Amino acid sequence: MGRLQKILIPFLGLVLAFWFYSARENFKPEMLKGKRVIVTGASTGIGEQMAYHLARMGSHILITARTEAKLQKVVERCLELGAASARYVSGTMEDMAFAEHVVKEAETALGGLDMLILNHIGTSYFGYFNGDVGHVRKLLEINFLSYVAMTVSALPMLKESEGSIVVVSSMAGKVGFPFTVPYSATKFALDGFFSSLRQEFHIQSVNVSITLCILGFIDTESAVRAAAHLLRVPPAPRAECALEILRAGALRRRELYYRYGATRLPLLLRDWAADLLDYLVRSRYRLEALQGR
Ligand code: NDP
Repeated sequence: MGRLQKILIPFLGLVLAFWFYSARENFKPEMLKGKRVIVTGASTGIGEQMAYHLARMGSHILITARTEAKLQKVVERCLELGAASARYVSGTMEDMAFAEHVVKEAETALGGLDMLILNHIGTSYFGYFNGDVGHVRKLLEINFLSYVAMTVSALPMLKESEGSIVVVSSMAGKVGFPFTVPYSATKFALDGFFSSLRQEFHIQSVNVSITLCILGFIDTESAVRAAAHLLRVPPAPRAECALEILRAGALRRRELYYRYGATRLPLLLRDWAADLLDYLVRSRYRLEALQGR
């Protein structure tokens, strides 16, 4: 009997914990209906897919990127799919005034903001670090500083709506990745800034959630073009990835790992077996394909 109790009680505890946490995880698309959402880097890739999901859910969408012709097409498609409203602002996130202008546009056109999705990245190279400090600085401005600038501008609106900030990062922002040194640095910076800010929000009782999304390899055109021939792992689908990001943001989760098995599980090694994790990361690459890069 004593033995049975020893097994049964922890088992029941686990079942209850699972029930409790899975009940909290109940995402419904209506959660984003009528919400006012900014998606950056939405002319293509994961950002574009997020815009389409939001459109189907009936959100008010403001998208941004540099290429106006692509943004126009995404907006048209969003309206066909049922967006409550869809508009775009085109420009470059190298310019902090532009980053702030996008947020201002949400205030003017939508009267506020419920979710800020920071997703854009500037172009970088795939190969050994080439020592170009200017490039690191430029990438930090696009991939990191503009995220900070948009967050600062959006905070008054997000505080009012008790809204959410969703930051799209990468496994390369949690563990050192070779061949993307400047990019990795910008993603680590995001973790430092937004995880620290989340702590301050808790202390100050600011009810704005911050979700950091740790993604593995996803089948967007740019990622496949840059890395498919070098990586031994297959990419995950961008539409599913986009939906998981929105789900995590709507549920106000602290972090998303997509896909879980390819990202969260290896990262469990980080504190206890860092050398093993480094080895596993390196073994994902076909190093022979990098000759001459
Ligand atoms: P894409 O390269 O497909 O899209 C990048 C977007 O950013 C485009 O809309 C692009 O539009 C925009 N952009 C590029 N430069 C600028 C700029 N200077 N100013 C403003 N916008 C700009 O990226 P993905 O969809 O592949 O990635 C989306 C997010 O997911 C990124 O944060 C990335 O780090 C993350 N991620 C992706 C992975 C993958 O394998 N795909 C893996 C891990 C993380 P335009 O050129 O018109 O400006």
